Amino acid sequence: MEFKIDFAAAKPLFAEESSGGITVYFKERNGFKMIIVMKPYATKEEIKLVEQRLIDLGLKPHPIYGEFRTVIGAIGDERLIKKEHNIFALSGVEEIIPVLKPYKLAGREIKSEDTVIDIGSVKIGASNPIAVMAGPCAVEDAAQLLEVALKVKEAGACILRGGAYKPRTSPYAFQGLAEDGLKMLADVKDETGLPIVTEVLDTRDVEIVARYTDILQIGARNMQNFRLLTECGNIGKPVLLKRGLCSTIEEWLMAAEYVLAAGNPNVILCERGIRTFETATRNTVDISAIPVIKELSHLPIVVDPSHGTGNWRFVGAVAKGAVAAGADALMIEVHPDPANAISDGAQSLKPDKFNALMCELEPVARAVGRRM
Ligand code: PEP
Ligand code: MN
Repeated sequence: MEFKIDFAAAKPLFAEESSGGITVYFKERNGFKMIIVMKPYATKEEIKLVEQRLIDLGLKPHPIYGEFRTVIGAIGDERLIKKEHNIFALSGVEEIIPVLKPYKLAGREIKSEDTVIDIGSVKIGASNPIAVMAGPCAVEDAAQLLEVALKVKEAGACILRGGAYKPRTSPYAFQGLAEDGLKMLADVKDETGLPIVTEVLDTRDVEIVARYTDILQIGARNMQNFRLLTECGNIGKPVLLKRGLCSTIEEWLMAAEYVLAAGNPNVILCERGIRTFETATRNTVDISAIPVIKELSHLPIVVDPSHGTGNWRFVGAVAKGAVAAGADALMIEVHPDPANAISDGAQSLKPDKFNALMCELEPVARAVGRRM
């Protein structure tokens, strides 16, 4: 594990001598945060003692148990730390390091290894195969959903997408089948074995959506719905967090931070295009967000070329570009009859086109050392 410390920028609050060396507490602009690096092979008891000391101080410990070493992130109000609280003196503590980035838990400072999200048989992130989530924009009826699910599964998709709660620009447009749609998703999961990703629009629906789905999707329009982020953080199921329509990468990571800070480490980021002056495509897919996220964060990143382009003809090229740039997964809309789809038909691939794309993605993935 490698940590970079910029002591000048960290503005030490105070430093003190202790039997084990010098403890430095840091003050910074965006809240207070430090990482306590435990000695290699520190015992469980030593780790628990440090965690308990932090809790006693009113701080929230976020332990990350590594193979050789455990690090404990501590978040809280700097005023709670007083001179006499010498965490450094506790046995098993090797080092205390400040976190300088505003996204404390989403950043690489606290966790240098890539996070892998475990969705049963599917693993997303690190060197795992590139996961493809595919399915219709909206769950329309049971037959449509089953037909798409069987076809995308046959083509190699490993997760089924489909909205039961739809965030529509017009209040008069189809809003989704709500719980009936969730039940259809669950039935198709039983039949096909495909795990489900579906959107939750409102804090009031988090519990019911979580009951049926494997991954809770937070849509672009809700990226900064902070109550929703926290509720999804409390529930503990993996969260797919789409980038907001006009959000910077830092704002996106801060949104992820809400889920992580609520105690849910299972966040998947999803680049789905942002608003620019360009009108030839529905949105502009920010391919460079992939390597930027990879540098700044340990969280896996999915790319959604369907909402990103708004046009099925461009979906394949952007999907291949995303894989080449290092995406961990793709989210692609597929519909058996796009011309008659209730929503997003223009950007939906027919199953045979999706199948052809899956074959074309394979060599691209191989070229960058990944597998599909
Ligand atoms: C969707 O995935 O169906 C959706 C509405 O996406 P976004 O939030 O990216 O617009
Ligand atoms: Mn859609």
